[in-house]
Amino acid sequence: MKKISVLGSTGSIGTQTLDVVRNNKDIEVVALAAGRNINALAEQIREFSPKLVCVAEEKSVSELKLLTPDLRYEICFGMEGLVRAATMAEAQIVVTAVVGMLGIVPTVEAIKTGHDIALANKETLVTAGHMIMPLAKEHNVRILPVDSEHSAIFQSLNGEDASSVEKILLTASGGPFRGRTRAQMQNVRVEDALKHPNWSMGRKITIDSATMVNKGLEVMEAKWLFGVDIDDVQVVVQPQSVIHSMVQFVDGSIIAQLGCPDMRLPIQYALYYPERRFMNTERLDFARLAGITFESPDTENFRGLSLACEAGRKGGNMPTVFNAANEYAVARFLEGSIGFLEITDMIERAMSCIKYIDNPDVEQILETERAVYGLLR
Ligand code: NDP
Repeated sequence: MKKISVLGSTGSIGTQTLDVVRNNKDIEVVALAAGRNINALAEQIREFSPKLVCVAEEKSVSELKLLTPDLRYEICFGMEGLVRAATMAEAQIVVTAVVGMLGIVPTVEAIKTGHDIALANKETLVTAGHMIMPLAKEHNVRILPVDSEHSAIFQSLNGEDASSVEKILLTASGGPFRGRTRAQMQNVRVEDALKHPNWSMGRKITIDSATMVNKGLEVMEAKWLFGVDIDDVQVVVQPQSVIHSMVQFVDGSIIAQLGCPDMRLPIQYALYYPERRFMNTERLDFARLAGITFESPDTENFRGLSLACEAGRKGGNMPTVFNAANEYAVARFLEGSIGFLEITDMIERAMSCIKYIDNPDVEQILETERAVYGLLR
């Protein structure tokens, strides 16, 4: 029986992780952590019987207890609770599916405890990859990618020598506004930006996909996961989301991973790696596939991608500045207080104003986050 902790269990990745658990019957969920969706969490506790449960706020503790008076489990809250869920001795794998930089501290602590990480929370690697990857090596911990593109790269690299990689071809759908100019995106509404053409995901990552900030975060994530330079990652727009990413090798060969867009596939692959398990999901039907098309990304109208590459090349705390400004701006956009184009404008402003710090530690990363919020507020 494999034992896992799920951080962010009520979200898009969290619920799909629990669906994989439900379909396989040989994974025990030892800890669940969620934010404010207490009803969904109560149902998950009833179904998966975790030993430890964490909620974001203290006030949710009594609410949760009221919903589950007949169930026995330990309950905790806040960052301290999240760290407890990430470091539970029984867990072998921690699924990091919280959204944003909130994931850094629990991921670091889980690695120190020796738990493998099934990593969905890309913001952690983007901002703290320079610490996370060496720490994982030191503790002999595997960082197993959950992001579909990085899982595709991971699968394409299986059995290959890292020195034979020429470049990574990271595919992108282009999001709901592909083909539009900045002027045509001036007045887009939140509900338009939340309509992703191929994937159903949490709200923040869906907006990140519409700005192409998500692809930029993924370029930086690939840098750390696969030990390549930012400029060795080429973004290829492939609007049908059939090819999930590719690797080009030194002999010119390209290996790709294809499949229907379903996040349960990379989640299951990460949980059972190196075993490949049966999955009862839709199969790709090439006879029905109208076509797979390719384009270069439009980095002029979608500044999110070019700014991310700039932040990734500069390194230090610049990826944190990029990420924190984006987290702040996306939250403002979702509440309707800024326009769509202001998201990348805010990132650009933060990147030109915040002081550069080389090789930041966790405290300096969190300090940078606070400085960005202070600047943009
Ligand atoms: P969601 O917004 O759907 O879910 C976020 C989860 O985090 C929810 O369970 C939420 O709880 C929980 N959470 C929020 N605040 C806290 C807190 N203070 N303490 C504990 N838990 C908290 O996000 P996604 O699932 O879409 O994304 C999660 C991560 O995975 C992101 O980093 C994203 O970039 C990445 N990712 C997502 C993909 C997708 O298909 N969705 C694909 C690839 C990567 P609650 O809802 O109860 O408030």
